Amino acid sequence: TARVFSGIQPTGIPHLGNYLGAIESWVSLQEEYSSVLYSIVDLHSITVPQNPAELQKNIMDMAASLLACGIDPNRSILFQQSQLDEEHKMSMILAANLAMFQCQHCYTWQMKSGSLKNEGSVGLFTYPVLQSADILLYKSTHVPVGEDQVQHLELAQDTARIFNRNYGDCFPIPKAILSCTKKVKSLRDPTAKMSKSDPQIIATVNLTDSPDEIVLKFRKAVTDFTSEVTYDPEGRPGVSNMVSIHAAVTGMSVEEVVSQSMGLDTAHYKLAVAEAVIQKLAPVRAEIERLRTDQGYLKDVLKRGTEKAKELATPVYQEIRRLVGFS
Ligand code: ATP
Ligand code: MG
Repeated sequence: TARVFSGIQPTGIPHLGNYLGAIESWVSLQEEYSSVLYSIVDLHSITVPQNPAELQKNIMDMAASLLACGIDPNRSILFQQSQLDEEHKMSMILAANLAMFQCQHCYTWQMKSGSLKNEGSVGLFTYPVLQSADILLYKSTHVPVGEDQVQHLELAQDTARIFNRNYGDCFPIPKAILSCTKKVKSLRDPTAKMSKSDPQIIATVNLTDSPDEIVLKFRKAVTDFTSEVTYDPEGRPGVSNMVSIHAAVTGMSVEEVVSQSMGLDTAHYKLAVAEAVIQKLAPVRAEIERLRTDQGYLKDVLKRGTEKAKELATPVYQEIRRLVGFS
């Protein structure tokens, strides 16, 4: 049976790029698949230094954000990764079956370990092993990922094949569901993607930004010196980013957006896009704020999610124990 699995790190309130590029598609996958799991991957977060109190807050903020965006705890299993003991055991078993070089080449290690010199943690090195454990523990068949994660999913596929070869057929080979939304670009540098870790606050629109903050960020958005709305990502990345965002938040096509905006200069156009973003985010923002004040409810959702995830993981882990020779 088809089963969708995806994870997101608890790094606080998501931004517009996370929302349009990942979370919206997670919401629509709930319609298409009957078995869907979304994990808040706190074990992945601690592979780089974290402040414990902040991490706890971020886990709850991510839960609130996902629910506010439309993840329905009755149709998806929304849970916190570290709460399942099977995750840890699975990760050890899979690590024992992989060669060092398979992790060495992976994106996260290559990206993040460089700046950490030789101080990159062992956990950061085995990051994709833990991802494989996440996916395989539920015998997931489909994994929505961004382009940056395709390589890690390939490692998960290899891991499944290696395990199946070493111990007998157990895991389906998980397939990627690639997000079709274009990357949302930074409002300050339209050649870079919008990113949580961007030090320039006005480059990134967060889901809890007030209408005033959104207007300010769009007003300051970098475009170019041609005062006309056209879509040309290569030649005019700034204005084209405005057009893509406009299309994504209104559900219109790029062509419709451009023809509707004919005659507007870019300064006015940026305000029109800001207005459309405000409209789209208003209910999400209000719901995040409401849920944040109801920590009891959030804890309850995560607790129920953990129970349901455990129900799926237990028989798989039993099978693995038997195959490996532990029982
Ligand atoms: P960081 O800068 O810490 O890597 P991030 O902004 O890239 O943070 P992630 O937590 O790495 O956010 O990504 C969560 C999900 O959002 C992933 O599926 C990723 O592909 C997607 N995503 C991140 N940034 C964008 C963006 N600018 N446009 C579209 N999708 C994005
Ligand atoms: Mg990222």
